[in-house]
Amino acid sequence: MPNPHAMAEITWPEFQAYVDKGAVAFIPTGALEQHGPHLPLGVDHMLPTAIALDIAAEVGGMVAPAIPYGYKSMTRSAGGPFFPGSTGLDGATLSSVLQDIIREFVRHGIRQICVLDGNYENLWFLNEGIDLAMRELGDTGLRVMCMQHWEFLNEDTLGKLFPDGYPGIELEHAAVIETSMMMHYYPDLVRTDLIPDNPAVDAPPYDVWPPHRDWVPESGALISAAGASVEKGRIIADQYRRDITAAVRREFPARARAAE
Ligand code: ZN
Repeated sequence: MPNPHAMAEITWPEFQAYVDKGAVAFIPTGALEQHGPHLPLGVDHMLPTAIALDIAAEVGGMVAPAIPYGYKSMTRSAGGPFFPGSTGLDGATLSSVLQDIIREFVRHGIRQICVLDGNYENLWFLNEGIDLAMRELGDTGLRVMCMQHWEFLNEDTLGKLFPDGYPGIELEHAAVIETSMMMHYYPDLVRTDLIPDNPAVDAPPYDVWPPHRDWVPESGALISAAGASVEKGRIIADQYRRDITAAVRREFPARARAAE
């Protein structure tokens, strides 16, 4: 059965129906990069896709296929270029891909777009693509939101995820948050017997080129993922479904309601 909220699975008349009712179009973005020995290379775009499908079901929206490549893996936040499979784009390329997709969606009549990102290094290049699209398109009535999902994690949720204290998102690569969310959304893709339990990275507060391999743990995880669980993944998914939905309704009030 096609998922009626997945753009790649619907027909053009079904797409047109979304346009006619002024629905929100979600564009998931992420990366193709190493996520330790236990998670697949596609984590950073697979999670935003799953989250966006949850939110789209709440607001009657449509989820475009993800942009599966993102900005290059940086050593201190994602392990750097050392790992087989980590495949990055130049920043300008990522900006241009997003700008092109927005231009096309607007040509089709879409006027509400939510970019939902899952790769820490992407943010400014996504902002740039959106800004260039807004400048190029002029006065179309287009509105765009851009978010990185972990920004929605509140103190209550973080307290449940990290009883011993939140280490910060920079270290949360292939660690408790992403592993728990993958257990919730894609349980068959987590190699639970390979979940790493290495100590946290202790890199200095700067980057260098060429990057240092010895700043990254052997596993590729920047801190232990041993505290991950499917229950924690469900807690995160529930909070996102509630709070990201509320944010989308807040920014796209009338038309998001009309689409429900
Ligand atoms: Zn990631």
